[in-house]
Amino acid sequence: MPIYVYRCNCGLRFEQLAELNAPAPECPTCAGTTHKMPSGFSLGGLANAGLSRDHMPQTWRGLYRGDREYVTRMQRQWDRRQRFEAKYPELAGDTRPVLAHEGRYHNAPLRAGERRPT
Ligand SMILES: [Zn+2]
Repeated sequence: MPIYVYRCNCGLRFEQLAELNAPAPECPTCAGTTHKMPSGFSLGGLANAGLSRDHMPQTWRGLYRGDREYVTRMQRQWDRRQRFEAKYPELAGDTRPVLAHEGRYHNAPLRAGERRPT
């Protein structure tokens, strides 16, 4: 499966493995509609930051059952992100463990130490 670059109306660009004719996925940030960028488009400079933790695959299924090429690619992204965060700790983002990510927390996972009105 090739990796495509998608762009959302909120401005987010992200990469995702997808079948050739698969519909564009929803935006991981705002759940909005995304559009596939023309093939050959690269995240370029943006990719130097690697994927944020929230965009890293959280499960084995997310790693496409261990497809070696994809895992290697993610590993590289992760390494790059670690170096990036070591250099700019303020950009590391929220590293608290996610406690809940289903139901009403689907779009905004509940983090450890966080309180939300019920
Ligand atoms: Zn979005």
